[in-house]
Amino acid sequence: MIPRLKPTLGWRELAALVRPAAADAVPRFEAAFAQLARQKHAIAFPYGRTGLWALLQAMGLEGREVICPAYTCVVVPHAIVHAGATPVFVDSNARDFNMNLDLARKAVTPRTGAIIATSIFGHPVNLAALEGFRRDFPAVRVIHDGAHSFFAEDAGRPVHLAADANIVGLNISKLMTSIFGGMTTTDDDALADALRQVRDRLVAPPGRRKGFKRRLYLGAIPIAFSGPVYGFVNRLERAGLLRRFVKYFDEATIDMPADFRIGMTGVEAEVGRIQTDRYPDIIAHRRSIAGVYDEEFRSVPGVTRPPLGAGATWSHYVVRVDDRDRIHADLLRRGIQLGVLIDYSIPDLKAYRGSAGDRFDCPTSRSFVPRVLNLPLAVSPLQARWIVSKLRETIGVPIARTRAA
Ligand SMILES: *Cc1c(COP(=O)(O)O)cnc(C)c1O
Repeated sequence: MIPRLKPTLGWRELAALVRPAAADAVPRFEAAFAQLARQKHAIAFPYGRTGLWALLQAMGLEGREVICPAYTCVVVPHAIVHAGATPVFVDSNARDFNMNLDLARKAVTPRTGAIIATSIFGHPVNLAALEGFRRDFPAVRVIHDGAHSFFAEDAGRPVHLAADANIVGLNISKLMTSIFGGMTTTDDDALADALRQVRDRLVAPPGRRKGFKRRLYLGAIPIAFSGPVYGFVNRLERAGLLRRFVKYFDEATIDMPADFRIGMTGVEAEVGRIQTDRYPDIIAHRRSIAGVYDEEFRSVPGVTRPPLGAGATWSHYVVRVDDRDRIHADLLRRGIQLGVLIDYSIPDLKAYRGSAGDRFDCPTSRSFVPRVLNLPLAVSPLQARWIVSKLRETIGVPIARTRAA
């Protein structure tokens, strides 16, 4: 079974599992992450969404509107609501899945406090458009959601540096991991101070119990992702037996994890710091596999490829196909698990439909929902080619024709 995602963990991370964490593990991880981000401040949180929630409060945005993409992870508006602000949803670009910044301009009102620009799936936000927005609306704070992209670049310039702050998530599905956790980075000293104060006031230090739970979770990852176990877990999942554990949101509820205000543990920080060393190799590998997919899919009709920008960091390689659910199920039977992220448009979810921020129709975002299919990136070039050949069979493209192409 080829899993749809797989964290890149080595012996150093597993050694951190059995070693007591250093007392200053979290500040050391913050320093390493700041260096990787090429920013002055990196401030650690138990989740990416906690970092966003704290950031909005540090910016003083309670009671204000926050413009965010209709097509993003649902935890983003949840964090906005929990921070006492109102998410206002804006439709996407058809080409790169990112929020349409021309439409975002029309969403600005006197109540707008911030805009969250997301480099979704690792596709960099269009920097010229973002900078134009900034120039025209200087009172609106700009937050970059880098959970999918970290330090993606547009025309050679890192997108996250164009924002007042960048947030990332660090769970095992992200580009690099600290088991769970998140980071907020900024070059603004006053904002960093305010953010640390919010964290000191609202996020409790983790106890031994949380550290123990995180160690157990980390120890289970290599086992869960090993071939036979993963196949078995997947069968349970398909039978609906694991829904309670794998479903990360309920479409009618605006909630945060029970421990979202309990700080990052030392073991998570140790793993995260080790992963910062691996980050460049992880991205280089993902870029090369995206290149393989791009080349292979050129000869498969009926598949819309994502743009292959040089600065994309590829949290997900997402094609669009008709008949997605059949293809997904068919490949699963052949031992290939593809993802279907993101399979909702936020203003269409029960929790947000008809809410104050459901102000604009978002047809492009909605059009992605039944068509997106994510290909695994933690695979070898050979596996990537094999996956495309299976997908081609499923779609019904004759092999001879593609060879000739
Ligand atoms: C994962 C993610 C986050 C943060 O997620 P956490 O699970 O809270 O760490 C934020 N935005 C996007 C787009 C994400 O995918």
